[in-house]
Formats: sequence, C-alpha cells, structure tokens
Amino acid sequence: MKEFKQYINGKFVKSTSSDTTEVLNPCTEEVLSLIPQGSVADANAALEAAKAAQHSWKSLTANERAIYLHKMADVIRENRVFLAETLAKEQAKVIGLAQVEIDVTADYFDYNAGWARRIEGEIIQSDRSKEHIFLHKAPIGVAVGICPWNFPFFVAARKIAPSLVTGNTCVIKPSCIAPNTIMEFIGLIEKVNLPAGVLNVVCGTGPVVGNALTTSPITGIISLTGSVFAGQKVMEAASKNLTKVSLELGGKAPAIVCADANLELAVNAVVSSRIIYSGQVCNCAERVYVEDSIYDEFMAMATKKMKEIKVEDAFATNNPDMSSMVSKAQLDKVTEMVEYAKKEGAEVVVGGNRSSKFDKGYFYEPTLLTNVTQKMQIIQEEVFGPVLPVMKFGTLDEAIALANDSEYGLTSSIFSENFNKVMHACDQLEYGETYVNREHFEAIQGFHAGWKKSGLGGADGKHGMEEYLQTKVIYAQYR
Ligand code: NAD
Repeated sequence: MKEFKQYINGKFVKSTSSDTTEVLNPCTEEVLSLIPQGSVADANAALEAAKAAQHSWKSLTANERAIYLHKMADVIRENRVFLAETLAKEQAKVIGLAQVEIDVTADYFDYNAGWARRIEGEIIQSDRSKEHIFLHKAPIGVAVGICPWNFPFFVAARKIAPSLVTGNTCVIKPSCIAPNTIMEFIGLIEKVNLPAGVLNVVCGTGPVVGNALTTSPITGIISLTGSVFAGQKVMEAASKNLTKVSLELGGKAPAIVCADANLELAVNAVVSSRIIYSGQVCNCAERVYVEDSIYDEFMAMATKKMKEIKVEDAFATNNPDMSSMVSKAQLDKVTEMVEYAKKEGAEVVVGGNRSSKFDKGYFYEPTLLTNVTQKMQIIQEEVFGPVLPVMKFGTLDEAIALANDSEYGLTSSIFSENFNKVMHACDQLEYGETYVNREHFEAIQGFHAGWKKSGLGGADGKHGMEEYLQTKVIYAQYR
C-alpha cells in the first residue's frame, strides 16, 4: 500500500499532521493508499513556496512556460496506461473511460500551451496627443485549485495548465476520495524539472486545508470544482481578502425530447449521459422531458436500453457501461433519494435498488423512474447517480419552463429535427451550455460555465485561460 506525502516547493514532504486518510478501491473496498490529512501549516507552506516562485516563473516568456506544459503532456502519454489504471482503481471509473480522461488531460496541457503566443492586450486611442494607452494582461499571482473526485486528474489539469501558462504559480488540493492519480503524476513529472514551488499539491479536508488555502492573503485566485455547498463556503472564505473566485458547481441538467426528434439518437444520448461514470458527471442529463405523443415509445426504448446496461468491476474485460459508485456516502445518497421519490409517488420502471450482484463495493442499479412531478426532490436536486426520471410535456414552451424551473444552470439539451424549435430553445434555456441532438459532454476549446447556482466564471478555451489573468492599463505619455 502506498503512502503519499505532500508536494511542496519541489519536494515530497511529511505533513505536520500525523493524521491520514485511507483511499479505497470502491469496487472492492480494499485500501489502496494513505494520504496525509494535511494541516493549516502545510497549506501555508505550499502557498509561501508558490509565492516565492512566482516572480521568476512570470519572468519567463510565455513560450518558455509552455514548453514545460508540453513536457507534462508527454509524461502523461508515456505513462497513459499506468495512470488510467490508477484512476480506474481509485474511483471505479470503467477502464475505457479512465483512459479517455488520461488522454484528454494530456491534450489539455498541449492545448493550453498553445495559448502562450496568443495572450494579447490592446492599444487604446488616448484623448491626449502624444499618449498611448496600453492594456496588458498580467498573471494574478498564486492560483489555488480545489478539485472534486469525479474527474480528479482532468479537473486538476484544468486548473494547473491555464494558471501556469499565464504566469501564475499553483497550489492544488485534490479530493481526499480520489487523490492517487494526481499524486502519481507529480512523482512522474520530476524529470520535467519544473522550478521548485511552481506547482504544489496538498492533501487534506475542505474545512482545514481548503479553508486555509481560501482565506490566505497570498491566494490570488481560487478555482473550485465541487458542490454548491463547497462553493458557498469558498465564497465566504474568499470574501475575507476579496479574492477572485471561479466556481464550477453542481447541476440538474434537463434534456428535452420533442416529437420530431430522431428518437433512437435521443434515447441513446440521454441514457448514456446518465450512465457514464455511474451518473457521477456534473453536466450529464439528470431529468428528461418528453413530448406527450412520443412518451410511450420513448419509455419503451429507454427501458430496453437501461436493462441492457452492463454493470461490472471497473477492470472487467466485457466492456461494461458503468461500475460502482465512488463511495458508500454516494451510494447512500442515491439510495435515499430514490426511496424518497418512491414515497412521493414515483414509479420504478427499471432498477431502483442497490445492486445485489456484488458482495463488495458500492454498486447501484441503472434506474428509470416515471410518474414523477416537477416539485419532487428527484427532479429538483442533484442525484449524481445512474437515475433517470422522465416527465411528459405538451408544448415546447412548457418544456422550456419546466427545464428552467431549477436553481441550477450548468447544462441542458434539446432533441428535435426542427431548426426553429431548436433555436428557440437555445435562446430560452437558462443554462451555460445547451447541447443539440447529442450527449452532454463539453470540449476543451469551449467554455464550461454554470449559470445560477451552478457557478461563477468558467473553464476551458480562451475564456477559461483568461480567468487567470488580470488587466493592467498603462498610460504612456511622451514628449
Ligand atoms: P465537494 O464539494 O464535496 O468537494 C469538492 C472539493 O471541495 C474537495 O476537494 C473538498 O475537499 C473541497 N471543499 C469542501 N469544503 C470546502 C471548504 N469549506 N473550503 C475549501 N474547500 C472545500 O464535491 P465532490 O463531492 O468532490 O464533487 C461532486 C460535486 O462536484 C457535484 O456537485 C458535481 O456536480 C460537482 N462538479 C462540478 C463540475 C463542474 O464543472 N461544474 C465538475 C465536476 C464536479
């Protein structure tokens, strides 16, 4: 069993706290590793190291910084199978999907490195003669990235790559549930010779290490991916020093399926959206609204598809669709929400229980629910499990109103072959992303940003990279 240390100022060091957390394989409940349950002192040491390294890091040219990012991408590719296995083991992601996460993460480093020569300012006309107004983009300083367990490697890269290429240094706090892949990666990038302090990783809980990182005056920007609750805590903490926050939070994504949709495509996209990584993906369809006239057909097709879903160990060789939930807490949450939905009158069409097929692990059955209403908890709150509640609608405007009746605003989708209906829905849906006739899954060159309680700011693409920059204006008067 591995025991990881904190990574501070270019070295693996012991935490000042002797407390540790066990990281489990969710499929087998076997202990995989021990990570430090870090201290405030660890967090402060990481921030001090990042602060000390930032001046010389920002003094490199952006292209010199980008070379380090390309090398990190190379290291990921050289170790892609090992990293995917580590990821699959610690969070029960089926190995094929784990491999996709690793490969996309390598691309993410390369993609962000590509911005190095494209970070641009502006020259603005002055009202004075013999004066130029230069608008520069400057790094903010020290970026803190706080990560969830569901895409623990990709989300860490989503914070590391744009912060480093723009001249910030970085402190990452992984989730205590799935920290192994990022810790192994840090060990592997030693040969990249990143200057000490540029990238630091401290493990620990949100209330201790997370709170220390977000209340420190050293921190220039906090990028959190996690629950709305953690987002609220981070905003409160950030208010102490008026620190900039970028928040990627929960969702309750609606999918609207119109009568003129390609039904096979819609069913496949919606079901696979709900099943991928056992439903533990922030942007994937959490509730479906289906037009009256095709409801029965949709349910028949969705029932067949849900019954065909293969649930297995993450390493099973028969190409499973999903595996265990990440933890007992997550299994309990899904179980409780489905039981409550049943009490409120929901009808279980497929699944609806903890899986009895496995002696160990936290497996839940792919679940299809009908007879649900808009006010039910299962339609209003994020489940984060393989549970799909389906409702009927009459008109498209009714469907849009139901879809918008949510405190979340991360992603949404519409399935229709009618261009006018699609464009109307795209204009009216109050979501940071709308997918048309396809599954919910974003691209690294897009902009992943939740509206309402789903977040503030965003990640990916040019606009995600710019989150890590601040603006300086120089008024240059000459004689
Ligand atoms: P979580 O909120 O429990 O934890 C996320 C991170 O925040 C962890 O590292 C945790 O230790 C830290 N944290 C918790 N309290 C904190 C505090 N007071 N101060 C500082 N840090 C604190 O979330 P999770 O269970 O790891 O992840 C699942 C959630 O993340 C879901 O709600 C999901 O929708 C969301 N998510 C959103 C996106 C997105 O892009 N919008 C992506 C992935 C996951």
